[in-house]
Amino acid sequence: MTRVHDRREFARRCEELIDSLPIRVPFEVTAFLAELGEQRGTPLLLWRMNPDPTLPSGMLVRTVSGDYLFVVRGTSAGHLRHIVFHEVGHLVLRHPLDRVCGVPGERHFLDEEEAEAERFAYLLAARIRAAELQCRVSGPQGQLRSAFGSRRQFCKR
Ligand SMILES: [Zn+2]
Repeated sequence: MTRVHDRREFARRCEELIDSLPIRVPFEVTAFLAELGEQRGTPLLLWRMNPDPTLPSGMLVRTVSGDYLFVVRGTSAGHLRHIVFHEVGHLVLRHPLDRVCGVPGERHFLDEEEAEAERFAYLLAARIRAAELQCRVSGPQGQLRSAFGSRRQFCKR
């Protein structure tokens, strides 16, 4: 199997996983995590942590009562979304969670699962942007897209 084929196969697997996620427009991170937690049967909560140079900018902690996604207080909305999508990637790709996540360019960003979680995060972000764009299109054009689109309708009415 070629590397290109592996990458395509991984992207296809991600798209299937993303199809099963509770994506709603307008997209809201805490509502998404709450619904994903319900779907998985384990609460998934977003918590803020104080900045600490010894800790990553985000991390996922699993306990018997739920999964807690910690993000450094003051993180911009865009970066927060990316951290959340990366950690959700680890969860749904069923990666072992005893890990320290890094960012590209840092020494932790060496292993394959980190690269996969990053790729997943970008694909999920792209899907959400597409859903947001689709919901902005109203009138006959929007109805036409809904009728012929292969994706389910995400827009809240
Ligand atoms: Zn990671």
